[in-house]
Amino acid sequence: MAHDRHADCPLCRSSKQTFYRKADSYRIVRCDQCQFLFVSPLPSKEALATFYQQPAYYEGSDLGYDDYLGDRHRHEQLARGRLHRIENMHPSRGDILDVGCAAGFFLSVAQSRGWQTLGVELSSSMADYATRLLGHRIAPTLTDAGIQSGSLDAVTLWEYIEHIPDPQDEIARLVALLRPGGVLALSTPNTNYWVAIHQPDRWREYKPPAHLGFFTPATLRHVLKASGLEQITIVRATPRAPTQPYLLQRLLLLLRDQVGNGADRRTALWWSFSLAWRLGEYISRGLYRVRWPACDLHIGLEAYAIKPKR
Ligand SMILES: [Zn+2]
Repeated sequence: MAHDRHADCPLCRSSKQTFYRKADSYRIVRCDQCQFLFVSPLPSKEALATFYQQPAYYEGSDLGYDDYLGDRHRHEQLARGRLHRIENMHPSRGDILDVGCAAGFFLSVAQSRGWQTLGVELSSSMADYATRLLGHRIAPTLTDAGIQSGSLDAVTLWEYIEHIPDPQDEIARLVALLRPGGVLALSTPNTNYWVAIHQPDRWREYKPPAHLGFFTPATLRHVLKASGLEQITIVRATPRAPTQPYLLQRLLLLLRDQVGNGADRRTALWWSFSLAWRLGEYISRGLYRVRWPACDLHIGLEAYAIKPKR
């Protein structure tokens, strides 16, 4: 599935790279110049297209989403928060393009808030679903969508940038489609999450060929800045409680069984367990901060940026 030639860094084009780790039969390397982690050599374009046409990708295979359609409510909830941020930067709404729009859940929320929606999705089964949901065509690729340059008010890429072999080129292409003052927004797993760095065997985002690039707040900022975007905001999203030290975890579970918690108010003292739980979480986060001060406790990244007006 792979070319035998090593790939240059897709962000800074440097050919100097250091082996980082293996994932299945793929090699993940770190760029010596900009520190970006990526798969090298890359799978071919044809191999990637075939991979995304497998319906299993969206229905619970190890490499894809567990059950994308069943998670609709969660996707819509996320969409509202993300649109709220975009609308703060671009209050007048307008035309929004979602690249890799899957079943169209984000776009349907955008539609209900007054945006004119456009979508691109490679998987034909997902694109058909989105077409029915939104009432308009979803193009298989950006080229097929035939969008005029400088015509969009917002472009979004949710959990997409880690899937493509050429993120820098793709962002540049999308920025060209934005009007001056338009917003680009994206999300991606955070490779600076402590598990990704200190327990990489447990980090499920190292999964080529689905994921080909692995971003940190620094490399994400790099790719957006290099495309001429400004007012870049990187949001560390979805904090995850660190795995608590074993003894603390045992103690908390014992307490919960005895007194209950907010969800299961077994005794009148349920609040004491909730308090202990929060305290435990607070302390263990503090410990992780001390132990690995350079790592994040957040599993995801979101970025928002504006195309300058000039
Ligand atoms: Zn690089």
